[in-house]
Amino acid sequence: MNQFKTLPLTCPCCAKVFDSFQLRHPLKSDIQYTDFFQAFHGAQPLNYSIHTCPHCGFSGQEKEFKQKDLNEDLKKKIKAKLMPLMSQHNVFSGQQYEYAAMIAQWSGDAELRIAKLHLKAAWCYRNARGREGEKKCLKNAITSYTQAYNNKEIPDSDKSQYMYLIGELHRRIGELAKAADWFEKAKDYALSEKDHKWVAELALQQKTDPKDYIQREKPYMERLLSDF
Ligand SMILES: [Zn+2]
Repeated sequence: MNQFKTLPLTCPCCAKVFDSFQLRHPLKSDIQYTDFFQAFHGAQPLNYSIHTCPHCGFSGQEKEFKQKDLNEDLKKKIKAKLMPLMSQHNVFSGQQYEYAAMIAQWSGDAELRIAKLHLKAAWCYRNARGREGEKKCLKNAITSYTQAYNNKEIPDSDKSQYMYLIGELHRRIGELAKAADWFEKAKDYALSEKDHKWVAELALQQKTDPKDYIQREKPYMERLLSDF
């Protein structure tokens, strides 16, 4: 059975019609990274979640292509900044997330959503072994997650997980002192919360004996990172 399904889309920015692809029946692997990236067997759903208009560069999830009225100011920004980057070649998935993050920023979306797009861009670069691209996007994700934290966008019940995540992203770009601070905060906060002992344990592990992968059957943070 074909793993891919053609997805005809109409661009809400330039109104042109084009075909994108959807991945069907992705099969989860038992590999989850300690920054919560969930790997799949074969084709990664991550690479097919954002669609990019090949004419103007508008990028987003399928539902964002269903918007009716894209505001004129946003259209102008897309045409000025993204349209010149379009060519005949397919756009790399990491760049698609970066374009979607730019659009989210121009649209005034919540920092938490922008942060997720940057983090997912970093994962695409990691899968493609693009170390520099990964590092750049992890830095952007740290900035946005920290901003989201300072803006109080994160509900108390999710706080310890995001504190841990910010620590882990710092660790992954070699900022160990900052990582240790966030791990410590995550651990203290998690211990004051019901059912968050696992966050405290993970934070302590990453501070003292860091690992790149999580050893556990059930993935962590699935709810928080699966949607936007
Ligand atoms: Zn377009």
